[in-house]
Amino acid sequence: MSAQIIDGRKIAAEIKAQVKKEAEEYLKRNGRKMGLAVILVGDDFASGIYVRNKIDACNENCINSYAYKLPATTTEHDIIELIHRLNNDETVDGILVQLPLPPHIRQNVVLSHISVYKDADGFLAENAGNLMLGNPSLNACTPCGIIELIRSTGINIDGANAVVIGRSNIVGKPISLLLLENHATVTMCHSHTANFVNFTRHADILVVATGQKGLITGDMVKKGAVVIDVGMNREGGKLCGDVDMESVKEVAGFITPVPGGVGPVTVAMLLKNIVKAALRLE
Ligand code: NDP
Repeated sequence: MSAQIIDGRKIAAEIKAQVKKEAEEYLKRNGRKMGLAVILVGDDFASGIYVRNKIDACNENCINSYAYKLPATTTEHDIIELIHRLNNDETVDGILVQLPLPPHIRQNVVLSHISVYKDADGFLAENAGNLMLGNPSLNACTPCGIIELIRSTGINIDGANAVVIGRSNIVGKPISLLLLENHATVTMCHSHTANFVNFTRHADILVVATGQKGLITGDMVKKGAVVIDVGMNREGGKLCGDVDMESVKEVAGFITPVPGGVGPVTVAMLLKNIVKAALRLE
């Protein structure tokens, strides 16, 4: 039997509806909308599209957006100065620096200047550390979205065998911690893992975030598993994931499509982070 497709757009719409309700109530209480500031440096085509999507999502859900589109020649000093201004701006509840930054700008240095309370992407060391310690924090949007996608299937995360392929700071590590927090038994695989198939074949939940098109095929997946494909690979203008949909959907119980899976839910979770940040600062 073919796997059920997890509809990321539908789940994102439900999250956004809740965000809008909370944002409207916030507006009534405070006489102003919540606000997100987005900093885009340079003219990377894909980054431009991501920023546009995030801004549209804010505007459609009662959140103000302030876009700072800076030339690729902008200095690190100027970006940091802007971030400090936004940190002190009471109309701004969340700040996001679109990555990647041009090579002359040190990403970690720039990000470290964002106030921990306005860290809309949840990338700061303090927020990542709080996630590890189990303290309240602003968490990275994609991992939070993945948890929502898994929950939507009705599977019990508690006690499940979860395998994560990829160990990046923005996807692999935080999703592993969130699954652990939800009481899954978590195995992390990466490019140095010998025969990751030995792990994936036993996974009730399989999260793949490698950026390697079609890395996971049906023979590597446990029957009935929940498969979350985070990958976004462009091939001839077409977007495809890290999972070979054709073969995996014949084995898995649930699977996210690319596009239409993790991507839309990531944007919805960004809005949720702005609400979280605004309510903490209220
Ligand atoms: P990174 O390149 O930072 O990390 C990739 C990870 O995959 C690394 O840990 C790497 O291992 C591992 N890896 C690569 N090749 C293999 C392999 N053959 N076998 C096992 N592990 C492997 O990527 P990101 O985590 O930032 O992103 C991953 C994918 O998810 C990309 O396609 C990205 O575009 C997409 N993405 C999608 C988002 C969305 O909103 N839909 C958001 C963020 C990312 P090692 O550490 O050993 O090098």
